Amino acid sequence: MSDVLLGGADRKLVLRSLPLVVEPRRRDERPPPCRSCYGASWWNGWRVTYPVVALSPGELTRLELPLPRARCSCCHVGFTCYPAGFYPRRQYQLDVVADAVAAVAVGGESVADAAATHATSATSVRRWSRWIAALADGAALHAIASEIDPSTAAVATATQRSRTAAVLGALEVLGATLVRVGVAVVERTGLGRVLGWQHRAHGVAVALVAGPTRLSPAMAPGGRPLTR
Ligand SMILES: [Zn+2]
Repeated sequence: MSDVLLGGADRKLVLRSLPLVVEPRRRDERPPPCRSCYGASWWNGWRVTYPVVALSPGELTRLELPLPRARCSCCHVGFTCYPAGFYPRRQYQLDVVADAVAAVAVGGESVADAAATHATSATSVRRWSRWIAALADGAALHAIASEIDPSTAAVATATQRSRTAAVLGALEVLGATLVRVGVAVVERTGLGRVLGWQHRAHGVAVALVAGPTRLSPAMAPGGRPLTR
């Protein structure tokens, strides 16, 4: 699995410290239509990945997860089909990232402690924190939540410890709002729910290091989530 997050030191740490659970190969009888041209597609092999997941905070597992590959019969574009709850191009899945960053930004843990608890390096925890701080504007996320569901309580903007904490808090509000209006999510954290929904509904995957990151245009104020 290509993963820009993972340096050599991290990889060794994960291999040593996390149990590996091998998932069976699962796929529907037919692949979904092509995302580019909506043409029919056919199954075209598997790609084996090794995501790190946390079904509950602090309970980390490394999976051997085979992902089915498909290819469009019209435009011949190949694509990978991700089961719900798995985000592309990330070894550490979004709920793990959110847990580790929240431990520092909200819980006041040291970076070193949070890194040890989440089987990663301090460098990764710092990188994830910067990424979340730059992901979106907290006030804009609150505005989107109110737009989607006007009953969303205007959260008092108490002084947050940091921009990272403010964005994390706003993502929690928006994630809870998506659940309330009926968007199906399997993720636990606001970060996971918001980005996971964007990916499933709009095919948008936010890169970790590709310059300034933005949420999908569909999440702009006025955009409404389609329940799927
Ligand atoms: Zn196509």
